[in-house]
Amino acid sequence: MNQKFIPLSVPNLKGNELKYVSHAIQTEWVSTAGPYVEQMEKEITDYVKSAGAVACQNGTSGLHISLIVAGVTNQDAVIVPTLTFIAAVNPVKYVGAEPIFMDCDESFCLDPIKLEKYCETECEFRNGSLIDKVTHKVIKAIIVVHVFGNMADMEKIKSVCGKYNIKIIEDATEALGTYYTQGTYKGKFAGTIGDFGVYSFNGNKIITTGGGGMIVSNDKENLAKAKHLTTQAKSDDLNFIHDEVGYNYRMTNLQAALGIAQLEQLETFIEIKERNYRLYKEKISKIDGLKLVSFRKGIRSNFWFYSLDVQDYKLKKEDLIHSLQKNRIQTRPIWGLINEQKSYKYSRSFRIEKAKEFWRNIVNIPCSTNLSESDVELVVSTIKNL
Ligand SMILES: *Cc1c(COP(=O)(O)O)cnc(C)c1O
Repeated sequence: MNQKFIPLSVPNLKGNELKYVSHAIQTEWVSTAGPYVEQMEKEITDYVKSAGAVACQNGTSGLHISLIVAGVTNQDAVIVPTLTFIAAVNPVKYVGAEPIFMDCDESFCLDPIKLEKYCETECEFRNGSLIDKVTHKVIKAIIVVHVFGNMADMEKIKSVCGKYNIKIIEDATEALGTYYTQGTYKGKFAGTIGDFGVYSFNGNKIITTGGGGMIVSNDKENLAKAKHLTTQAKSDDLNFIHDEVGYNYRMTNLQAALGIAQLEQLETFIEIKERNYRLYKEKISKIDGLKLVSFRKGIRSNFWFYSLDVQDYKLKKEDLIHSLQKNRIQTRPIWGLINEQKSYKYSRSFRIEKAKEFWRNIVNIPCSTNLSESDVELVVSTIKNL
């Protein structure tokens, strides 16, 4: 077996990356000061139409800072999805708060109906705070993940959270470029609908800076606080006076140089992702028992990750993954549920059902923007021949 290796999701650096990174090196601005960092913040702000943006080291640190600025402390609880990458949940523990795990709907994203049910039946609303009846913690915030570039049902989630005074942090690490094309939030980008939004530029995301992240918000004061905290909370330019415990969560100019070049190609990447998605979808629909999962209606997705549903297929998830691996095609199962992981198995969860089904049946298939139409055809014909 010596067919070409097809990775799951790898960077595409064929634009101005080398040029801008070289410029950063030639000018010797390689660290946390330098013009590309500010430029990247400005370009993200303009692209997603937020009030501003704060560059940070990665998506995880962006979520951590968002929780602090949202006022979440070790007295509080935060509602989180169970079907996600664990970095969406760990920051809740960094601030000493308790996660409460929620199920997903058909979109893989947090189920707004169960969210409302949980708030109504498992909590008490007292003096403007929603209190979980079992842990007695105040539910200060929710982390909503826009899974695989899909959009969570923000209309419904916003209405529930508005009613119960819950701050919304959108983990849009996988969904840069996704926006509503219909409804109340028509034209609004994933990450700009709640109180905070966080993007990631990790190597496997739709654009990459090697490692990097960005916090956005529509509240300038929150952004100023976030900037302050990511830059060591220095309150005086000369004398090293710091007014609280800050963090060194800054992005470097080298990373931002890469990011500027990637941003120039973002819309092209989305076009390629969409083309390949449609090609896969059509071809896979002809294979008995397999289908490619759709994105939510009424949105323009960034088509970041493709999800194959193997529920009715002749092979089990693991067998499909191993067979493809033997054929040099890299795939992966959807994440193990977070509420079942070692660090979280004693945390509270509410009626997790749908997420378990997805865990059994969903496999992600190659989706890099380097993938040509013939690569897609090779993946599909390999599956056909299993
Ligand atoms: C990638 C990712 C993160 C973390 O981003 P990093 O930049 O890798 O820290 C958080 N949540 C989700 C859902 C992700 O996919």
